[in-house]
Amino acid sequence: MRVDLHTHTCFSDGKLSPEELVQRALKKQVSMLSITDHDTVAAYTALEGTTSRLTIIPGIELSTHWSKMEIHVVGLNIRPDSDAMDEAVDSQQQARMSRARYIAERLEKAGIPDPLAGAGKIAGNRNIGRPHFAQYLVEKGICKSPAEAFKKYLSSGNLRQHWADLPTVVNWIRDAGGIAVLAHPLKYKLTYTKLKELVDDFIQAGGQGLEVISGKQPTFQVRKLARLCEQTGLLASCGSDFHQPDLSWAELGQYPPLPKDCMPVWEQFR
Ligand code: AMP
Ligand code: MN
Ligand code: MN
Ligand code: MN
Repeated sequence: MRVDLHTHTCFSDGKLSPEELVQRALKKQVSMLSITDHDTVAAYTALEGTTSRLTIIPGIELSTHWSKMEIHVVGLNIRPDSDAMDEAVDSQQQARMSRARYIAERLEKAGIPDPLAGAGKIAGNRNIGRPHFAQYLVEKGICKSPAEAFKKYLSSGNLRQHWADLPTVVNWIRDAGGIAVLAHPLKYKLTYTKLKELVDDFIQAGGQGLEVISGKQPTFQVRKLARLCEQTGLLASCGSDFHQPDLSWAELGQYPPLPKDCMPVWEQFR
């Protein structure tokens, strides 16, 4: 069974519509899919009334901060229409807007014209994020690639200050009936000791799962994360972090299965 529990649509920074994403997942033989857009559940409203041959697990990816770092937590099997998700989305969207204004001010100081309007237009005035600023900087010819834009303009400054803290985001997910999963644990480039500290605080806050597989990963990394699950009793999740076609390292459901000794998070879904 191919399971992909971390994907994005055009309702955050992905390129496909929810329906296109579901069609692509079917083509890639994914039988269980979660759309986990950044700080929004709008994809589920868009899918209301549609049916498909795969199991869709409602999800979200919430940005938070921990120890001066931006950390992402995926909420799986949530109720998108719950009061807790309403509150989470409202609060995170306000955070996104205040962060966008902060980013725009810094870009203006660097001599870049109309960054907020430009990025807002690319985002379709919904769920504005750094990828939209990156695209604007590329379109204006200021940067050659989104990677360069991130490096030069979108990674410095106190960006994390805007987000809710770790216990708050985990509580939103739990109150919405979901399971909180620590997203792409190796992306934060922490030492093993620091990663263990993060995992301990995450569990203390009520977190229950860890992404053992995040896209194509070397086997030794998968093993390392599986061991961490075993040591801490965390459930294991897997997902591609798919944003768009043509990125082979993040294609829907294209990775080996979870190691046998992991407890798959989806066994808890009902
Ligand atoms: P945001 O949620 O607004 O902070 O944007 C974070 C998103 O930007 C991530 O989920 C990635 O999709 C994307 N991203 C992060 N770093 C880079 C990078 N160096 N180059 C291109 N995209 C990136
Ligand atoms: Mn993204
Ligand atoms: Mn993420
Ligand atoms: Mn993601």
